[in-house]
Amino acid sequence: MVKADAYGMGMPFVARALRKVLAPEGPWAFGVAAVCEGEALRATGWGGRIVVFSPVPPGEYPRAARAGVALALSDLDAVHGWAEAARTAGEVLPFHLEIDTGMGRSGFPWERAGVWGTEVERVAGDRLCWEGTFTHFHSADEPDLAPTDAQWGRFREALRSLPSPVVGVPRRVTHVANSAAALRRDGYACDLVRPGIALYGGSTGPDDRPVPVASLRARVALLRDVAPGATVGYGATYTARRPERWATLAIGYGDGLPRALGPAGGRALLCGQAVPIIGRISMDVAVVDVTGVAEVAVGQIATLIGRDGQAEITVSEVAERCGTIAYEILAGLMPRLPRVYLGSDAPAR
Ligand SMILES: *Cc1c(COP(=O)(O)O)cnc(C)c1O
Repeated sequence: MVKADAYGMGMPFVARALRKVLAPEGPWAFGVAAVCEGEALRATGWGGRIVVFSPVPPGEYPRAARAGVALALSDLDAVHGWAEAARTAGEVLPFHLEIDTGMGRSGFPWERAGVWGTEVERVAGDRLCWEGTFTHFHSADEPDLAPTDAQWGRFREALRSLPSPVVGVPRRVTHVANSAAALRRDGYACDLVRPGIALYGGSTGPDDRPVPVASLRARVALLRDVAPGATVGYGATYTARRPERWATLAIGYGDGLPRALGPAGGRALLCGQAVPIIGRISMDVAVVDVTGVAEVAVGQIATLIGRDGQAEITVSEVAERCGTIAYEILAGLMPRLPRVYLGSDAPAR
């Protein structure tokens, strides 16, 4: 899954890296959420399968057909619309059929697969290729896997109720597992898995301590010595109680550093030491109190997520402080942040 700019990591680089890791064929398919993401992936030179997993507004079907993506379809109107796009394009277009087993946001209802399954085949006719069938889990990262096992049971029951595939037609693939289900239940014996967060260093469950993938860093742009009573940031919510030394970092919520981190005990690492973020985070800057950290200088690199010497701030820590999940922190990293890739595949700088 490389949707949302590969969870904020930068889709073109991630797609290239995944193709290399999985060479020579690459992944079975790349998963995205929107047609525009499929187009962006095509522009990187990927000629293989792309599946758009979120429901697509019917107005975008012609665009989807031109981009050569497969759509995930959730109701008969969508099957009709996609078949119409296929007729117009003069091509057989692929689709993956979503079965709703409890996620509730999209998919054909699992209880009535015997009814709609026949209808889907009839409408698809020879215009569409029913390439795969899938469901999505709502709680595979929770300590208790019983709800996920129940969803799996519903999915299998729905599969059993579908009309038997026509002889001579390529077998449809099945896929149910996000990262958590892929790691904790081995993908539930399907043909494919759909890992996202596990590729990007986010935790997939209570006992998972993933290797970090991304660090978030910014330079010290200014240093100032302030007198007691000096205030900082919008709303002047922080006041110096003593002579203090403040460092202004060249990063703000306009880069994806969550504004909620300010009042939630957010920290940065400088010279291997944790220093508190003070006052409200602005769009473009954040200020930290570096009083007593003698070595701090303008131009030094502060770490907002990642490691500095022995000290570390994990993406999970940032997410917890902000009352959200690692997914949102990563996907919230903005285009203004330069992405610096490390390792042998990194583009020249
Ligand atoms: C985003 C997404 C995934 C990946 O989920 P992770 O929890 O990030 O592994 C899998 N399947 C679908 C349909 C998705 O939208």
